[in-house]
Amino acid sequence: MSPIRQKVKFDKKLLDQDALKILKKLNKSDHETYLVGGCIRDILLGHKPKDFDIATSATPEQIHKLFKRSRIIGRRFKLVHIMFSARKFIEVATFRAGKVQTSNDGLVLRDNYYGALEDDVFRRDFTVNGLYYDIKKSEIIDYVGGLDDLKALKIKMIGDPSERFEEDPVRMIRAVRFQAKLNANIESQLIEAIQANSQLLVKIPPARLYEEVIKLFHNENSIEIFHELDRLGLLRHLFSQTKENPFVDSSLINTSERIRNGNSVTPAFLFAVFLWSAVNKRFNQISKKNKSRIELMLQASEDVIKKQTQQVMMPRWLSSRVKDIWLMQYQLENYNPKKSKALIRNPRFRMAYDFLVLRSESIDKDLRAKAEYWTNIQK
Ligand code: ATP
Ligand code: MG
Repeated sequence: MSPIRQKVKFDKKLLDQDALKILKKLNKSDHETYLVGGCIRDILLGHKPKDFDIATSATPEQIHKLFKRSRIIGRRFKLVHIMFSARKFIEVATFRAGKVQTSNDGLVLRDNYYGALEDDVFRRDFTVNGLYYDIKKSEIIDYVGGLDDLKALKIKMIGDPSERFEEDPVRMIRAVRFQAKLNANIESQLIEAIQANSQLLVKIPPARLYEEVIKLFHNENSIEIFHELDRLGLLRHLFSQTKENPFVDSSLINTSERIRNGNSVTPAFLFAVFLWSAVNKRFNQISKKNKSRIELMLQASEDVIKKQTQQVMMPRWLSSRVKDIWLMQYQLENYNPKKSKALIRNPRFRMAYDFLVLRSESIDKDLRAKAEYWTNIQK
Protein backbone atom coordinates (compact mmCIF):
# COMPACT_ATOMS: atom_id res chain seq x y z
CA MET A 1 0.00 0.00 0.00
CA SER A 2 1.52 3.29 -0.99
CA PRO A 3 0.77 6.44 0.93
CA ILE A 4 0.03 9.94 -0.25
CA ARG A 5 3.12 12.11 0.16
CA GLN A 6 2.33 15.75 0.23
CA LYS A 7 4.53 18.79 0.62
CA VAL A 8 2.96 21.10 3.15
CA LYS A 9 3.57 24.62 4.26
CA PHE A 10 3.01 25.63 7.84
CA ASP A 11 4.39 28.02 10.37
CA LYS A 12 7.78 26.52 11.31
CA LYS A 13 7.62 28.39 14.59
CA LEU A 14 5.08 25.79 15.70
CA LEU A 15 7.74 23.08 15.60
CA ASP A 16 9.62 22.31 18.77
CA GLN A 17 13.37 22.86 18.46
CA ASP A 18 14.23 19.97 20.76
CA ALA A 19 11.99 17.62 18.79
CA LEU A 20 13.81 18.71 15.63
CA LYS A 21 17.16 17.91 17.23
CA ILE A 22 15.96 14.38 17.98
CA LEU A 23 14.68 13.90 14.43
CA LYS A 24 17.95 15.08 12.92
CA LYS A 25 20.11 12.93 15.14
CA LEU A 26 18.12 9.75 14.54
CA ASN A 27 17.90 10.37 10.82
CA LYS A 28 21.65 10.99 10.68
CA SER A 29 22.20 7.60 12.27
CA ASP A 30 20.13 6.06 9.47
CA HIS A 31 17.04 5.46 11.54
CA GLU A 32 13.88 6.40 9.71
CA THR A 33 12.22 8.94 12.02
CA TYR A 34 9.07 11.08 11.88
CA LEU A 35 6.97 13.44 13.88
CA VAL A 36 3.60 11.80 14.29
CA GLY A 37 0.10 12.04 15.66
CA GLY A 38 -1.45 14.91 17.56
CA CYS A 39 1.38 17.38 16.94
CA ILE A 40 1.04 17.08 13.15
CA ARG A 41 -2.73 17.28 13.36
CA ASP A 42 -2.51 20.43 15.47
CA ILE A 43 0.17 22.08 13.34
CA LEU A 44 -1.81 21.53 10.15
CA LEU A 45 -4.75 23.23 11.83
CA GLY A 46 -2.48 26.10 12.85
CA HIS A 47 -2.56 25.28 16.58
CA LYS A 48 0.43 25.06 18.86
CA PRO A 49 0.83 21.38 19.83
CA LYS A 50 0.75 20.43 23.50
CA ASP A 51 3.49 17.84 23.04
CA PHE A 52 5.52 16.28 20.23
CA ASP A 53 5.56 12.56 19.58
CA ILE A 54 8.24 10.89 17.52
CA ALA A 55 8.10 7.50 15.80
CA THR A 56 11.24 5.77 14.58
CA SER A 57 12.66 2.53 13.20
CA ALA A 58 15.34 2.61 15.95
CA THR A 59 14.74 0.25 18.87
CA PRO A 60 14.39 1.66 22.40
CA GLU A 61 17.90 0.46 23.19
CA GLN A 62 19.34 2.18 20.10
CA ILE A 63 17.55 5.41 20.95
CA HIS A 64 18.72 5.26 24.54
CA LYS A 65 22.34 4.82 23.39
CA LEU A 66 22.17 7.89 21.16
CA PHE A 67 20.76 10.21 23.81
CA LYS A 68 22.61 10.58 27.05
CA ARG A 69 19.72 12.09 28.92
CA SER A 70 17.12 9.46 28.13
CA ARG A 71 15.42 6.57 29.81
CA ILE A 72 13.42 3.61 28.66
CA ILE A 73 10.01 3.40 30.22
CA GLY A 74 7.84 0.34 29.91
CA ARG A 75 4.17 0.48 30.46
CA ARG A 76 2.09 -1.39 27.92
CA PHE A 77 4.92 -1.04 25.45
CA LYS A 78 8.45 0.27 25.71
CA LEU A 79 9.04 3.93 24.98
CA VAL A 80 11.97 6.27 25.42
CA HIS A 81 11.78 9.59 27.19
CA ILE A 82 14.44 12.07 26.17
CA MET A 83 14.87 14.72 28.85
CA PHE A 84 15.49 18.37 28.10
CA SER A 85 14.86 19.86 31.51
CA ALA A 86 13.42 18.87 34.84
CA ARG A 87 9.96 19.34 33.41
CA LYS A 88 10.35 18.68 29.73
CA PHE A 89 10.83 15.41 27.95
CA ILE A 90 9.95 14.16 24.48
CA GLU A 91 8.56 10.69 23.91
CA VAL A 92 10.09 8.57 21.18
CA ALA A 93 8.43 5.29 20.18
CA THR A 94 9.70 2.53 17.97
CA PHE A 95 7.34 1.66 15.07
CA ARG A 96 4.88 -0.91 16.31
CA ALA A 97 3.86 -4.02 14.41
CA GLY A 98 0.31 -4.63 13.25
CA LYS A 99 -0.37 -7.69 15.29
CA VAL A 100 -1.39 -7.47 18.90
CA GLN A 101 -1.88 -10.24 21.35
CA THR A 102 -5.30 -10.00 22.94
CA SER A 103 -7.14 -11.79 25.71
CA ASN A 104 -10.42 -13.64 25.07
CA ASP A 105 -12.40 -10.48 25.61
CA GLY A 106 -10.32 -8.58 23.07
CA LEU A 107 -8.24 -6.39 25.41
CA VAL A 108 -4.64 -5.78 24.42
CA LEU A 109 -2.32 -7.94 26.52
CA ARG A 110 1.06 -7.65 24.92
CA ASP A 111 2.03 -5.07 22.50
CA ASN A 112 5.74 -4.98 22.23
CA TYR A 113 6.43 -6.04 18.69
CA TYR A 114 8.31 -3.66 16.51
CA GLY A 115 7.38 -3.07 12.90
CA ALA A 116 7.75 -0.68 10.00
CA LEU A 117 6.09 2.65 9.37
CA GLU A 118 3.28 1.01 7.42
CA ASP A 119 2.53 -1.22 10.42
CA ASP A 120 2.75 1.59 12.94
CA VAL A 121 0.14 3.72 11.21
CA PHE A 122 -2.59 1.08 11.47
CA ARG A 123 -2.12 0.87 15.23
CA ARG A 124 -3.07 4.50 15.68
CA ASP A 125 -6.61 5.49 16.56
CA PHE A 126 -8.11 8.10 14.22
CA THR A 127 -7.15 9.05 10.68
CA VAL A 128 -6.38 12.62 11.76
CA ASN A 129 -3.94 11.17 14.32
CA GLY A 130 -2.28 8.91 11.76
CA LEU A 131 -0.20 11.48 9.87
CA TYR A 132 3.61 11.47 9.81
CA TYR A 133 5.93 14.33 8.96
CA ASP A 134 9.21 13.74 7.21
CA ILE A 135 11.52 16.71 7.94
CA LYS A 136 14.08 15.67 5.33
CA LYS A 137 11.57 16.20 2.53
CA SER A 138 9.14 18.51 4.33
CA GLU A 139 6.39 16.06 3.45
CA ILE A 140 3.37 14.62 5.18
CA ILE A 141 2.97 10.88 4.77
CA ASP A 142 -0.66 9.82 4.77
CA TYR A 143 -1.70 6.15 4.57
CA VAL A 144 -5.20 6.57 5.92
CA GLY A 145 -6.83 9.60 4.31
CA GLY A 146 -6.07 11.72 7.37
CA LEU A 147 -5.30 14.84 5.33
CA ASP A 148 -8.76 14.81 3.73
CA ASP A 149 -10.45 14.07 7.05
CA LEU A 150 -8.55 16.88 8.69
CA LYS A 151 -9.72 19.28 5.98
CA ALA A 152 -13.28 18.06 6.43
CA LEU A 153 -12.85 18.10 10.23
CA LYS A 154 -14.01 14.51 10.50
CA ILE A 155 -13.07 12.06 13.27
CA LYS A 156 -12.85 8.67 11.58
CA MET A 157 -11.43 5.43 12.98
CA ILE A 158 -8.54 3.68 11.29
CA GLY A 159 -10.03 0.21 10.71
CA ASP A 160 -13.24 -1.23 12.08
CA PRO A 161 -14.55 0.96 14.93
CA SER A 162 -15.99 -1.84 17.08
CA GLU A 163 -12.84 -3.95 16.81
CA ARG A 164 -10.65 -0.99 17.66
CA PHE A 165 -12.86 -0.13 20.66
CA GLU A 166 -12.63 -3.68 21.90
CA GLU A 167 -8.82 -3.46 21.74
CA ASP A 168 -8.86 -0.21 23.68
CA PRO A 169 -12.15 1.26 24.91
CA VAL A 170 -10.44 4.52 25.92
CA ARG A 171 -10.54 5.41 22.22
CA MET A 172 -14.26 6.15 22.68
CA ILE A 173 -13.42 8.91 25.13
CA ARG A 174 -10.61 10.18 22.93
CA ALA A 175 -13.02 10.51 20.00
CA VAL A 176 -15.22 12.80 22.08
CA ARG A 177 -12.25 14.85 23.26
CA PHE A 178 -10.86 15.39 19.76
CA GLN A 179 -14.29 16.23 18.36
CA ALA A 180 -14.51 19.12 20.81
CA LYS A 181 -10.86 20.12 20.59
CA LEU A 182 -10.81 20.30 16.77
CA ASN A 183 -14.37 21.53 16.43
CA ALA A 184 -14.86 18.46 14.26
CA ASN A 185 -17.57 15.83 13.80
CA ILE A 186 -17.36 12.19 14.72
CA GLU A 187 -18.50 10.21 11.67
CA SER A 188 -21.84 8.46 12.10
CA GLN A 189 -20.46 4.91 11.97
CA LEU A 190 -18.18 5.80 14.86
CA ILE A 191 -21.02 7.34 16.87
CA GLU A 192 -23.03 4.15 16.48
CA ALA A 193 -20.05 2.03 17.53
CA ILE A 194 -19.56 4.16 20.65
CA GLN A 195 -23.21 3.86 21.62
CA ALA A 196 -23.05 0.10 21.11
CA ASN A 197 -19.78 -0.36 23.04
CA SER A 198 -19.87 2.16 25.89
CA GLN A 199 -20.04 -0.60 28.52
CA LEU A 200 -16.53 -1.70 27.49
CA LEU A 201 -15.23 1.14 29.63
CA VAL A 202 -15.81 -0.94 32.77
CA LYS A 203 -12.75 -2.96 31.76
CA ILE A 204 -10.39 0.00 32.00
CA PRO A 205 -8.43 0.35 35.25
CA PRO A 206 -9.64 3.36 37.31
CA ALA A 207 -6.10 4.79 37.36
CA ARG A 208 -6.00 5.08 33.58
CA LEU A 209 -9.46 6.62 33.53
CA TYR A 210 -8.32 9.21 36.06
CA GLU A 211 -5.69 10.43 33.61
CA GLU A 212 -8.24 10.52 30.82
CA VAL A 213 -10.77 12.40 32.93
CA ILE A 214 -8.23 15.12 33.64
CA LYS A 215 -7.62 15.50 29.91
CA LEU A 216 -11.36 15.55 29.26
CA PHE A 217 -12.25 18.34 31.64
CA HIS A 218 -9.16 20.47 32.10
CA ASN A 219 -9.50 22.26 28.81
CA GLU A 220 -11.54 24.99 27.22
CA ASN A 221 -14.16 22.66 25.77
CA SER A 222 -15.09 20.79 28.91
CA ILE A 223 -18.79 21.60 28.78
CA GLU A 224 -19.26 20.34 25.22
CA ILE A 225 -17.31 17.25 26.17
CA PHE A 226 -19.48 16.63 29.23
CA HIS A 227 -22.70 16.86 27.24
CA GLU A 228 -21.41 14.66 24.45
CA LEU A 229 -20.20 12.00 26.90
CA ASP A 230 -23.66 12.08 28.44
CA ARG A 231 -25.41 11.88 25.09
CA LEU A 232 -23.32 8.93 23.92
CA GLY A 233 -23.80 6.95 27.14
CA LEU A 234 -20.16 7.23 28.25
CA LEU A 235 -20.66 9.49 31.25
CA ARG A 236 -22.40 6.80 33.31
CA HIS A 237 -19.30 4.61 33.00
CA LEU A 238 -17.11 7.41 34.34
CA PHE A 239 -19.38 9.19 36.82
CA SER A 240 -22.40 7.00 37.46
CA GLN A 241 -23.52 9.28 40.33
CA THR A 242 -23.38 12.46 38.25
CA LYS A 243 -26.27 13.95 36.33
CA GLU A 244 -26.17 17.14 34.35
CA ASN A 245 -27.41 20.14 36.34
CA PRO A 246 -26.85 23.91 36.32
CA PHE A 247 -24.11 23.63 38.97
CA VAL A 248 -22.13 21.16 36.87
CA ASP A 249 -22.62 23.37 33.82
CA SER A 250 -21.48 26.56 35.55
CA SER A 251 -18.46 24.87 37.04
CA LEU A 252 -17.37 23.55 33.64
CA ILE A 253 -17.82 27.00 32.10
CA ASN A 254 -15.89 28.44 35.01
CA THR A 255 -13.03 25.93 34.56
CA SER A 256 -12.82 26.75 30.85
CA GLU A 257 -12.65 30.46 31.62
CA ARG A 258 -9.90 29.93 34.17
CA ILE A 259 -7.87 27.96 31.66
CA ARG A 260 -8.41 30.58 28.97
CA ASN A 261 -7.16 33.25 31.40
CA GLY A 262 -4.15 31.21 32.41
CA ASN A 263 -5.39 30.54 35.95
CA SER A 264 -4.72 27.28 37.72
CA VAL A 265 -7.37 24.58 37.97
CA THR A 266 -7.60 21.58 40.26
CA PRO A 267 -9.40 18.30 39.76
CA ALA A 268 -10.58 18.58 43.38
CA PHE A 269 -13.04 21.26 42.40
CA LEU A 270 -14.36 19.23 39.49
CA PHE A 271 -14.86 16.05 41.48
CA ALA A 272 -16.43 18.00 44.33
CA VAL A 273 -18.95 19.52 41.93
CA PHE A 274 -19.68 16.30 40.05
CA LEU A 275 -20.39 14.41 43.27
CA TRP A 276 -22.12 17.17 45.23
CA SER A 277 -25.70 16.08 44.58
CA ALA A 278 -24.76 12.44 45.28
CA VAL A 279 -23.21 13.34 48.63
CA ASN A 280 -26.27 15.32 49.63
CA LYS A 281 -28.54 12.49 48.62
CA ARG A 282 -26.49 10.06 50.64
CA PHE A 283 -26.47 12.46 53.60
CA ASN A 284 -30.27 12.56 53.56
CA GLN A 285 -30.49 8.77 53.29
CA ILE A 286 -28.40 8.19 56.40
CA SER A 287 -29.50 11.25 58.36
CA LYS A 288 -31.95 9.28 60.51
CA LYS A 289 -29.02 7.72 62.29
CA ASN A 290 -28.19 9.18 65.64
CA LYS A 291 -25.04 10.96 64.63
CA SER A 292 -23.73 14.49 64.47
CA ARG A 293 -23.97 16.50 61.29
CA ILE A 294 -20.28 16.31 60.74
CA GLU A 295 -20.14 12.55 61.25
CA LEU A 296 -23.00 12.11 58.80
CA MET A 297 -21.30 14.28 56.22
CA LEU A 298 -18.05 12.38 56.62
CA GLN A 299 -19.87 9.09 56.25
CA ALA A 300 -21.76 10.27 53.17
CA SER A 301 -18.49 11.54 51.67
CA GLU A 302 -16.77 8.21 52.26
CA ASP A 303 -19.63 6.29 50.67
CA VAL A 304 -19.85 8.47 47.58
CA ILE A 305 -16.09 8.59 47.04
CA LYS A 306 -15.79 4.84 47.47
CA LYS A 307 -18.39 4.27 44.80
CA GLN A 308 -16.73 6.79 42.50
CA THR A 309 -13.30 5.22 42.77
CA GLN A 310 -14.66 1.95 41.42
CA GLN A 311 -14.89 3.78 38.09
CA VAL A 312 -12.31 6.57 38.19
CA MET A 313 -9.47 6.60 40.67
CA MET A 314 -9.13 9.51 43.06
CA PRO A 315 -5.68 9.81 44.63
CA ARG A 316 -5.68 10.30 48.42
CA TRP A 317 -4.80 13.98 48.28
CA LEU A 318 -7.68 14.49 45.87
CA SER A 319 -10.37 12.77 47.92
CA SER A 320 -9.23 14.56 51.05
CA ARG A 321 -9.46 17.93 49.33
CA VAL A 322 -12.90 17.08 47.97
CA LYS A 323 -14.08 16.21 51.49
CA ASP A 324 -12.68 19.50 52.81
CA ILE A 325 -14.65 21.45 50.22
CA TRP A 326 -17.84 19.64 51.16
CA LEU A 327 -17.35 19.87 54.91
CA MET A 328 -16.58 23.57 54.76
CA GLN A 329 -19.85 24.34 53.01
CA TYR A 330 -21.71 23.98 56.29
CA GLN A 331 -19.26 26.28 58.06
CA LEU A 332 -19.60 28.87 55.31
CA GLU A 333 -23.37 28.68 55.32
CA ASN A 334 -23.67 28.88 59.12
CA TYR A 335 -20.89 31.26 59.92
CA ASN A 336 -20.01 32.72 63.22
CA PRO A 337 -18.78 36.27 62.48
CA LYS A 338 -16.28 36.00 65.31
CA LYS A 339 -14.59 33.07 63.64
CA SER A 340 -14.76 34.29 60.05
CA LYS A 341 -11.28 35.72 59.92
CA ALA A 342 -9.80 32.47 61.12
CA LEU A 343 -11.69 30.51 58.52
CA ILE A 344 -10.35 32.74 55.75
CA ARG A 345 -6.83 31.78 56.75
CA ASN A 346 -7.61 28.08 56.29
CA PRO A 347 -5.65 26.89 53.23
CA ARG A 348 -8.82 25.24 51.89
CA PHE A 349 -10.94 28.36 52.26
CA ARG A 350 -10.47 29.63 48.73
CA MET A 351 -11.74 26.47 47.07
CA ALA A 352 -14.64 26.08 49.45
CA TYR A 353 -15.55 29.74 48.90
CA ASP A 354 -15.42 29.41 45.11
CA PHE A 355 -17.63 26.34 45.47
CA LEU A 356 -20.17 28.27 47.56
CA VAL A 357 -20.22 31.14 45.07
CA LEU A 358 -20.89 28.79 42.16
CA ARG A 359 -23.66 27.09 44.10
CA SER A 360 -25.23 30.44 44.87
CA GLU A 361 -25.14 31.34 41.19
CA SER A 362 -26.64 28.07 39.96
CA ILE A 363 -28.57 25.64 42.14
CA ASP A 364 -28.73 27.43 45.48
CA LYS A 365 -29.66 31.01 44.67
CA ASP A 366 -30.84 31.55 48.25
CA LEU A 367 -27.19 31.39 49.29
CA ARG A 368 -26.36 34.64 47.50
CA ALA A 369 -26.32 36.80 50.59
CA LYS A 370 -24.03 34.35 52.36
CA ALA A 371 -21.67 34.19 49.42
CA GLU A 372 -21.61 37.98 49.38
CA TYR A 373 -20.77 38.05 53.06
CA TRP A 374 -17.67 35.98 52.37
CA THR A 375 -16.76 38.06 49.35
CA ASN A 376 -16.94 41.27 51.34
CA ILE A 377 -15.13 40.04 54.37
CA GLN A 378 -12.08 39.23 52.25
CA LYS A 379 -11.79 42.82 51.02
P1 ATP B 1 -3.22 15.48 22.65
O1 ATP B 1 -1.75 15.41 22.95
O2 ATP B 1 -3.71 16.74 22.13
O3 ATP B 1 -4.03 14.95 23.78
P2 ATP B 1 -2.60 13.36 20.83
O4 ATP B 1 -3.31 12.88 19.59
O5 ATP B 1 -1.21 13.86 20.66
O6 ATP B 1 -3.53 14.45 21.47
P3 ATP B 1 -1.48 11.48 22.64
O7 ATP B 1 -2.15 10.74 23.75
O8 ATP B 1 -0.41 12.45 22.93
O9 ATP B 1 -2.67 12.19 21.85
O10 ATP B 1 -0.97 10.37 21.63
C1 ATP B 1 -0.15 10.64 20.53
C2 ATP B 1 -0.54 9.76 19.35
O11 ATP B 1 -0.46 8.37 19.71
C3 ATP B 1 -1.97 9.93 18.87
O12 ATP B 1 -2.08 11.01 17.97
C4 ATP B 1 -2.25 8.61 18.22
O13 ATP B 1 -1.67 8.52 16.94
C5 ATP B 1 -1.52 7.63 19.13
N1 ATP B 1 -2.40 7.13 20.22
C6 ATP B 1 -2.49 7.61 21.47
N2 ATP B 1 -3.36 6.92 22.21
C7 ATP B 1 -3.82 5.93 21.42
C8 ATP B 1 -4.75 4.86 21.60
N3 ATP B 1 -5.38 4.69 22.77
N4 ATP B 1 -4.97 4.03 20.55
C9 ATP B 1 -4.31 4.21 19.37
N5 ATP B 1 -3.46 5.21 19.14
C10 ATP B 1 -3.21 6.06 20.14
MG1 MG C 1 0.05 14.44 22.15
